[in-house]
Amino acid sequence: MARNKIFSLFSAPSGDDFAVTQPDYAETLLLLENFENSNKGWFWSTDCDGHLTYLSGSVSRLMNDETAALLGLAFSDLFIRADNAADVRERLPFILSRHASFENIIVQSARSQDERWWEVAGSPQFDKEGNFKGYRGYGVDVTEQLQSSENASQLAMYDPLTGLSNRLSMAKCLEAGMAGIEQYGRSCAVLLIDLDRFKQVNDSLGHPAGDALLKQVSERLLKIIGDREKVFRLGGDEFQIILPNCEDRGTLGGIANEIIASLSQPYSVLGSRCVIGASVGLAVGPSDGRTREELIRNVDLALYAAKENGRGCFRFFSNELLQAVEERRGLEEDLRDALVKGQLSLFYQPLVSTKSSCVTGVEALIRWQHPTRGAISPALFIPIAEEADLIGMLGEWILRKACEDAAQWPGDIRVAVNVSPIQFANEALPQIVVSALANSGLAPNRLELEITEGVFLGESAETDTMFATLKEIGVRLALDDFGTGYSSLGYLKTAPFDKIKIDQTFVREATLPGSRNGAIIAAIVALAGALSMETTAEGVESLDQLDLIRSLGVSHIQGYVYSKAIASDALARGLASGEWRIEPTGHAKQRNERRAMYRKVGAILGSYYHPALIRNLSESGALIEGFVDVPVDTQIIVDFGECQLAVATVRRVGKKQHGIEFVEQLVDDGVGGLCTSRRVSAYALSKLGLGGKDQSGEALMWDPTNAATVGKLSDSLGLSTSAKSIQTPGQGPGAGGDNAPQFQSLSLLNAGTASQRHLSNDELARLKMAVEASHNPSLKYFIGLVLLTGTRVQDLLTAQWDHFDLNAGVWTVPAENAGKTKKISLSTAAIDLINQLPRWDGCPHLIANPRTKKPYNSFYGSWDAARKKAKLGNVGIHDLRNNVVKTW
Ligand code: C2E
Ligand code: MG
Ligand code: MG
Repeated sequence: MARNKIFSLFSAPSGDDFAVTQPDYAETLLLLENFENSNKGWFWSTDCDGHLTYLSGSVSRLMNDETAALLGLAFSDLFIRADNAADVRERLPFILSRHASFENIIVQSARSQDERWWEVAGSPQFDKEGNFKGYRGYGVDVTEQLQSSENASQLAMYDPLTGLSNRLSMAKCLEAGMAGIEQYGRSCAVLLIDLDRFKQVNDSLGHPAGDALLKQVSERLLKIIGDREKVFRLGGDEFQIILPNCEDRGTLGGIANEIIASLSQPYSVLGSRCVIGASVGLAVGPSDGRTREELIRNVDLALYAAKENGRGCFRFFSNELLQAVEERRGLEEDLRDALVKGQLSLFYQPLVSTKSSCVTGVEALIRWQHPTRGAISPALFIPIAEEADLIGMLGEWILRKACEDAAQWPGDIRVAVNVSPIQFANEALPQIVVSALANSGLAPNRLELEITEGVFLGESAETDTMFATLKEIGVRLALDDFGTGYSSLGYLKTAPFDKIKIDQTFVREATLPGSRNGAIIAAIVALAGALSMETTAEGVESLDQLDLIRSLGVSHIQGYVYSKAIASDALARGLASGEWRIEPTGHAKQRNERRAMYRKVGAILGSYYHPALIRNLSESGALIEGFVDVPVDTQIIVDFGECQLAVATVRRVGKKQHGIEFVEQLVDDGVGGLCTSRRVSAYALSKLGLGGKDQSGEALMWDPTNAATVGKLSDSLGLSTSAKSIQTPGQGPGAGGDNAPQFQSLSLLNAGTASQRHLSNDELARLKMAVEASHNPSLKYFIGLVLLTGTRVQDLLTAQWDHFDLNAGVWTVPAENAGKTKKISLSTAAIDLINQLPRWDGCPHLIANPRTKKPYNSFYGSWDAARKKAKLGNVGIHDLRNNVVKTW
């Protein structure tokens, strides 16, 4: 390389002066001068203090200065930074101060107008005595070189069509996000966006239109996110957004909704108008993945679920999705031989004519009785069969079986068979239909094929041919689930349907106040009438729906109001008398869909973990059961699983249920459910014994030896409890104020001498759990005091507050039956525990029933249940008093 040659020419190996001793030194000087004037490189030298003594004129000009003005400056003052981004003021001065030689150091000019980079080298000069005399060196302009490599790496990082960062940059960005999680405990959210119906635009309007559309999509995304660095195009119609330090699911759901709404607005591309949609999957690290790969796999699953959920929606990742993948895999395996093993059967659901109220046809619906999982819905396994390439075989069996069964029924009602879009795309379908009809002897006009709008996604010429061929055979065609898919009226004009089936989503809400579904159904009926097609309303369940549907002029009704799907022989019996009229039955009115539920959760109350049930749930609160008599205003933590914990305040106390209000509202999970806006750290949870699974696969509930309380737990998990301080059940009046020690801090120890019978750690833990989980909220205090004081059960049952001098730590048990009074000294643990007992105005008893404010007659029932639950059936309450080490 030229500069190495120059360097060797230039750096005299030793000597006290810069001297060219060769006879051709005039020639050498000329060469050097030419080189300097070429602007490719320059020379410099300094004195022993580092001040410039020589600088080529060419570089002075680039620095917009006279050489004379620059001489005397410190060499390192000419530059601003080095190639490795470390400050040159730190690097070069350091090297120079050590009088070391250097090369290949990239520096940027501090004085040029445009950006200019040099690679500099220098070697120290010493006199004969070894005294440092200064530096001599050279610099080479590397600006162009750097810029072109930067361009190349820029190109490698960007998507040329949209100018957005590409998959490669996404990987780097995500890596940085994950490092933030690892090092600083931050979060990182990933949104994966897939355009719905983009393929259709590409196919119908051409690729240039598709490209123009993608550009507009990227502009819309940039507008929403506002930061070019965070938006990526991964290829095709897939985009991704990375939001470091964002974990609030409410905010993220809002962004996802904004994206869906914006991308679903019409586009104008190359003179045509088109509309597409978008589905969004979301995953938030670290709760949804601690590595890049995990997070990407999970956001993929979330997107897949969003698309499956009907597109145009968002979905957060949850472990259920992973389980569903596993489950799907298992079902696929089982489905392969379900047919051979006789687990599949066909049932038939009657379709009733609105005019005659008679059954005029049936729809064949497949049923799968799984040997271990019971009945599995076709809505679940048909898509699996489609993906696993089993639908062809299954569909053919269904078609043949339905024709055979129908040929056996009395009369001539029709049988409708569902045909998957995959079967419809198979050229062999007409032959299979012909063969099924011929083998069974069923007249073609008694067979109706139900097709969904999905078939119109294929090649239109082939779709048209298929329609024509099927019509030639003489079978009828019905358009199934109308209104749920693309609902383009265009194909209704050309496709030869005999019937439109109005999807049950329209029927379901039609009778609810304010619903416009009735008007939509009326419009569909009018449209079908104009095209000489019949109509069937699907999913009619209640009598008011039936009335409404009838009044809207729908020609046929299918729904539970008449009958569910029944076996072929039951159907044959119904049809035996020739005409089969079914009386409608059902609720008079369609009931409002409440978010009533039966969802198992955990509730952390004081320092106890209760299994609990959510009975209904909204963003702001829930009705929960699983504990009794928790005072209003107490704060609890609800554990929804999957690291979703919500602090809530008890607002209402019912007989068995408590109405609670969440401190932070829950947010939409994108699929009609609710989730907490943030997840807490799985690591922190598992340290508390929460959130994991034990070896048997049971969810781990709570580590009974830990001393966390609602307050501490909220603090350590970063959960907001609002401005209010935490109230635990023990903090009633007289309970020792804010600093009252928590019950849990009195740990149950397993100590004792060999002569004492004592329970193992495990037994004690089980016992404590069971006692704390008891439906009797006082049992825990009672058993705690039996252990800590060693008193008789009867003494505790009759104990009153004024028998206790907590300052002196003495409990005076009154004399009984002319006996003596007893004085029991109380340990600190016992005093702590007594301080936590709820105390009610006007109620003298130490332990009282919160409802009646009177003493309990006995605790034996509650104790019995608790010891059985702890599998310690042989431990009596008196054993606790006499024999077990008295620590709680
Ligand atoms: P579909 O073709 O729209 O079938 C109607 C579905 O609505 C059936 O569900 C039926 O049981 C249900 N249904 C009818 N009346 C009511 C009602 O009043 N209330 C409610 N809630 N539901 C009602 P099913 O049998 O679970 O089938 C679900 C879907 O699975 C079907 O929707 C169809 O797409 C597919 N499927 C079922 N059998 C077959 C089949 O043999 N072949 C193919 N390719 N797909 C099938
Ligand atoms: Mg159907
Ligand atoms: Mg349907």
